[in-house]
Amino acid sequence: MIEKELVIVGAGPAGLCAARIAAEAGCRVLLIDRSPLLGGQLIKQTHKFFGSEQQRAKTRGFRIAEALVADLKPFGDTVEIWQEATVVGAYPDSVLTVWTNGEYRKIHFQSLILAVGAGERSLAFENNDLPGVYGAGAVQTLMNVYGVLPGKEVVMIGSGNIGLIVCYQLIQAGAVVKALVEAAPKIGGYKVHASKLRRLGVPILTRTTVVRALGDSAVKGVVLSGLDENWNPIPGTESEIACDAVCVAVGLSPLYQLAWMLGAEIPYVGELGGMVPLLDENRQTTVSGVFAAGDASGVEEASSAMVGGRLAGLHAARFLGHLHPDHTAIDTECRAQLSSLRGGPFGAKIRAGLKKAEVKVHAR
Ligand SMILES: Cc1cc2nc3c(=O)[nH]c(=O)nc-3n(C[C@H](O)[C@H](O)[C@H](O)COP(=O)(O)OP(=O)(O)OC[C@H]3O[C@@H](n4cnc5c(N)ncnc54)[C@H](O)[C@@H]3O)c2cc1C
Repeated sequence: MIEKELVIVGAGPAGLCAARIAAEAGCRVLLIDRSPLLGGQLIKQTHKFFGSEQQRAKTRGFRIAEALVADLKPFGDTVEIWQEATVVGAYPDSVLTVWTNGEYRKIHFQSLILAVGAGERSLAFENNDLPGVYGAGAVQTLMNVYGVLPGKEVVMIGSGNIGLIVCYQLIQAGAVVKALVEAAPKIGGYKVHASKLRRLGVPILTRTTVVRALGDSAVKGVVLSGLDENWNPIPGTESEIACDAVCVAVGLSPLYQLAWMLGAEIPYVGELGGMVPLLDENRQTTVSGVFAAGDASGVEEASSAMVGGRLAGLHAARFLGHLHPDHTAIDTECRAQLSSLRGGPFGAKIRAGLKKAEVKVHAR
């Protein structure tokens, strides 16, 4: 059994920021990620980020990842990093099982931060298991990390920011986006992204869905259908589009499984993306010493993942008896940044989700 003080699972923006602040406070940190690259989703984001200036908006996502990784360098061995290491088990006696270098390793932790992010949702339609049907994150990884174009003619499903941005990146990489289909009556993402696609001639079809993918061994096209106000297909509105790839961008769901294995309370909060661990105001789950941050505790954005990661790192350190010299100032600043990031009409859904979770926490 390997003994560790603070273990952080996930080296995306939340985990990297948590590691830095905890190390500053004096913790010895083990940061674990299953990927060969550090930065989580940021490594495949080639666009300049929107969001808050304080969270490096206007910088390309993969550059933000590089900067967050560089921030850990001064801490040397205080922050130990295991890459290509997957946490496959978490047990209530504060033990993790990690699969790495062809073997299982057991770690006993004093405190744990879960910063594992979110997983892509799929969509039920006939033949959705044909080669050529991808999640939007997979398409981004193929194109922007490995330089592989997933298809020449693509139909995108979902008009949230991810769907809109990935359409644009597909076009930049040389693909033709034959259509972007959206079941809702209006687009879900920022108008600025949708306008860019319209200017490039991409048809945006609202109240429309894919009912079937065509092809025997690979995608050759899709059948679309119009939807009524109850989201049921309207008979007689079916049409076909030829394509060799279908990209599904219908949202993300928090990866809650490790928290669940540890025995944390995990309600369904739709506004936060699905099953999420209940958190107290310091980001601690209902299991003492186990904290959560970033998309794993509710799907938001990299900016809020970074700030939430700082808060989790700060409070995990305090739990371990390492009070950061600037604890109060950092705590106050993080809370102010989070309420600003979640302000305005775009933050309304998140605020509603957090309120539900808060009520439940206080009612315990
Ligand atoms: C197309 C697109 C565009 C976006 N644009 C923006 C934007 O402009 N501005 C913005 O603020 N946000 C943007 N985001 C959102 C942002 O990327 C995410 O909100 C953010 O990356 C979440 O950070 P995280 O650290 O919580 O999780 P992630 O970045 O998902 O990192 C989680 C890490 O955990 C690791 N992991 C998971 N499970 C395990 C396990 N069992 N064992 C070991 N490691 C594990 C993963 O490998 C990963 O590295 C965008 C997202 C997408 C997909």
